[in-house]
Amino acid sequence: MALQRTFSIIKPDATERNLTGAVNAKIEEAGLRIVAQKRIQMTRGQAETFYAVHKERPFFGELVDFMISAPVVVQVLEGEDAIAKYRDVMGATNPEQAAEGTIRKAFAKSIGENSVHGSDAPETAAIEIAQFFSGNEIVG
Ligand code: GDP
Repeated sequence: MALQRTFSIIKPDATERNLTGAVNAKIEEAGLRIVAQKRIQMTRGQAETFYAVHKERPFFGELVDFMISAPVVVQVLEGEDAIAKYRDVMGATNPEQAAEGTIRKAFAKSIGENSVHGSDAPETAAIEIAQFFSGNEIVG
């Protein structure tokens, strides 16, 4: 498996509780390298674009409100099989179903306020990375 990149967000519930470093420790322990990272306040427009795939879902408004409720940390992670590996480290969307040792098991508050985002496929990873980073901000 070749080196791959994925897009990550440390969500408002985690940044508010000062868990950025704790999440990053789990990312690095899993063998993923943080090759770009910045703390931003997402705008409503950015959050709506980012989660456009969910716009018909009943929780869309709540999700957008949550994502702009406090700063987030956007990241690019690099490693062997990084997309699947990060999904494993994140754990299930609902923390009640997340496996021991995962970020969501350790830190998530609920199915909505679940501490992290990670891309689900190479195509979405490329789109998501390009929404928040220019090429010269990513240093592998
Ligand atoms: P993910 O890929 O594991 O992040 O999950 P999805 O792509 O299915 O959902 C995207 C995000 O929407 C999740 O990470 C949650 O923050 C949020 N979400 C998903 N399901 C629900 C829900 O039932 N209620 C609320 N409030 N938020 C949800």
